[in-house]
Amino acid sequence: MNIPKVGFVSLGCPKATVDSEHILTRLRAEGYLISDTYKDADLVVVNTCGFIDSAVEESLDAIGEALAENGRVIVTGCLGAKGDVVKLAHPKVLAVTGPHATDEVMEAVHLHLPKPHDPYTDLVPPQGIRLTPKHYAYLKISEGCNHRCTFCIIPSLRGDLVSRPVGDVMTEAQNLVNAGVKELLVISQDTSAYGVDVKYRTGFWGGRPLKTRMTELAAALGTLGVWVRMHYVYPYPHVDELIPLMAEGKILPYLDIPFQHANQRILKLMKRPGNSDNVLARIKKWREICPELTLRSTFIVGFPGETEEEFEELLDFIEEAQLDRVGAFAYSPVDGAAANELPDPVPPEVQQERLARLMWLQEEISEEKLKLKIGKTMTVLVDEVDEEGAISRSFADAPEIDGQVYINEGQHLKVGDMVDVVITDSDTHDLWGELV
Ligand code: SF4
Repeated sequence: MNIPKVGFVSLGCPKATVDSEHILTRLRAEGYLISDTYKDADLVVVNTCGFIDSAVEESLDAIGEALAENGRVIVTGCLGAKGDVVKLAHPKVLAVTGPHATDEVMEAVHLHLPKPHDPYTDLVPPQGIRLTPKHYAYLKISEGCNHRCTFCIIPSLRGDLVSRPVGDVMTEAQNLVNAGVKELLVISQDTSAYGVDVKYRTGFWGGRPLKTRMTELAAALGTLGVWVRMHYVYPYPHVDELIPLMAEGKILPYLDIPFQHANQRILKLMKRPGNSDNVLARIKKWREICPELTLRSTFIVGFPGETEEEFEELLDFIEEAQLDRVGAFAYSPVDGAAANELPDPVPPEVQQERLARLMWLQEEISEEKLKLKIGKTMTVLVDEVDEEGAISRSFADAPEIDGQVYINEGQHLKVGDMVDVVITDSDTHDLWGELV
């Protein structure tokens, strides 16, 4: 077996030496060999110093030497944190990170020199063990939530928001794509809050700086060449930034954005943001920028104290917003939720009646919207194949929760195929198509 070899040049103070030790330890633990010559190395890591001018010069010279002798160089250390100094002097370096960045250096190494695979010790493939089919995967970007919606106990179960380092998220996404995944479903408790807890810290991916922030992450995921679908997007103002990425085809024009209600008083009782006029104006604007946009949302009916008028305001909103997909639930108290203390619970039979009215209205909307797709050509991703044909999804359908596109003549297709179909029929939730 050809074991990959990494050359290492360590410059600078004892803190830099410790950083080098950490990187070397990880490299050896993962099975890389350390080469003491440029010639034998598959790539070289240079840990730099940027403290005084002479140290900068020494570091730049060391990088130049490694490039001349080997050609494939990853730079880390203090000089890497000094803006574009390294890239300006040596544009050919593969990646640049700041100091104390073992994870980012390892990401860059993995990207340019894949880790040796040992079937006897590598029990887990790089993309990890997945419960989803091979062609799509959930990408969890954070854990916990900083909000305190009164009907929800997630923050008390999972704590406040903790965002995963953006480089880790991107490496996982890249590994998934390398393993054949064609659709990444970005999930969290609150996707739009990504990075708030780390003050949108700049991380690194592929040697480039990348902010720990939803829009920047979505744009980076959009470069991987697969479908990227955004879920659980809390309706913050900066969600607007995603819409141009959708219009440009970088991520799917699909937004799962839970509004929960439309009446201001109920939203306040829920401790949720929003004002239905604003939301409607935003939706209108989004559709102007990206006419294909598919909107999915969830609502709670029969929240404590909800009056008939307030519920009707929600129905008016649903009618006006013309959302593509809607999930609705009758409020039910969860042990420990603040909303349990609110007065005037809505009787269960009224809750169920309101739920049925809302779903009935939404079914009408959905049916009309799906009818408009007849005659259109859509790219679909095949989820299942049997003797009756294939079951697939378009950009407008998330797995498990949205509709499907049935292809009657699709028996010869394979799960994970992406094909174009012309839509021939529709019902309340699903479409039928013929291969083109
Ligand atoms: S409903 Fe969502 S946003 Fe609200 S507290 Fe729960 S997890 Fe957070």
